[in-house]
Amino acid sequence: MNSVTNTYKITVLPGDGIGPEVIKQAVKVLDKVAEVFGFGVEYNYADIGGIAIDKTGDPLPAETLELCKKSDAVLLGAVGGPKWDDLPLNKRPEAGLLGIRSGLGVFANFRPAKIFPPLKNSSPLKDRIIGDNLDILVLRELTGDVYFGEKKRTVYDGEPCAYDTMIYRKFEIERIARLAFETARKRKKKVTSVDKANVLEVSRFWREIVTEVAKDYPDVELKHLYVDNAAMQIVINPGQFDVIVTGNLFGDILSDEAAMITGSIGMLPSASLNSKGFGLYEPVHGSAPDIAGQNKANPLAAILSVAMMLEYSFNMKKAAEAVENAVLRVLQEGYATRDLATENSEVLGCEEMGDAVVSRIIG
Ligand code: NAD
Repeated sequence: MNSVTNTYKITVLPGDGIGPEVIKQAVKVLDKVAEVFGFGVEYNYADIGGIAIDKTGDPLPAETLELCKKSDAVLLGAVGGPKWDDLPLNKRPEAGLLGIRSGLGVFANFRPAKIFPPLKNSSPLKDRIIGDNLDILVLRELTGDVYFGEKKRTVYDGEPCAYDTMIYRKFEIERIARLAFETARKRKKKVTSVDKANVLEVSRFWREIVTEVAKDYPDVELKHLYVDNAAMQIVINPGQFDVIVTGNLFGDILSDEAAMITGSIGMLPSASLNSKGFGLYEPVHGSAPDIAGQNKANPLAAILSVAMMLEYSFNMKKAAEAVENAVLRVLQEGYATRDLATENSEVLGCEEMGDAVVSRIIG
């Protein structure tokens, strides 16, 4: 976070498809929170993804990245759509996403998997397995691992082959481990570190370093799990987890698995932080071209991303809770967007769901 008085500068990147619709609701909610909790918000809008390609030919124009770097936090909608699907990989809207993550140096991706009790029925897991108040936080390392190691197509023993290199530097493991313990301290004080130390040297190194860092956090319980076991445990006993910390590859898979326990992609927020605590906040879902522009999108993932911004970037836990409680109350009162609706729900459009949350924000 930059040195801020009590006005926060936020760069808003609505993007494509339902991005602008859900971000509009998230901004409305943030405005209301600012009014109730007495702080200022200054928004600067910029383009990313398909809309940026249409205007400038570049999915991440340099001005967009510059604006983000000058702000206190970034709120992003979603990018992509069929219009741009035939472009080469590095020119597609999704290249803008990778570009902004690396451009801002965000190395830690926080993906909460939390079940709001009124939505328990949407979970693919049985009630007795979900239990009460399921609340897991998957912390995925975002800038290292096999995704960024040397990769090549070559010939080995006369056979065409390909390889990717799994690599982690010590400081990369240390900083994500430290963040995991710090985060767990504010939660249930449990960290599960996931690796494949029975097979991979990188994982043995990961385990050694996490264990070393743990010595600075004697109040936090540390457990190590192999990734195959972790994948099973998430669906047979998810309640055992508090913070799960893992590398980029395993985190990519486990964060989706844990998130899906909650039942709806329209409910999942995320935060990605750099070493200075600067954050990029975005819903996990994509641009949903099939429902874009129809006032059908669920804005709650974007709204809950604002709650994460309040907590992680601005250290305003009470304001974050006010947003989460407002979302909970709307759901408890039987309102739902189309994706969450059951036969007894009163179905709201994206805009109306935003209004419903705004009107339930209390200090
Ligand atoms: P998607 O998440 O956009 O949609 C998957 C399904 O979930 C669709 O049926 C959609 O209608 C529904 N859905 C998603 N978000 C919803 C919401 N908030 N409310 C109600 N329903 C919602 O994934 P996709 O269809 O695989 O991808 C569509 C486009 O989005 C592609 O161009 C893809 O590359 C892009 N994408 C972007 C991001 C991102 O910006 N972070 C992430 C994933 C996909």
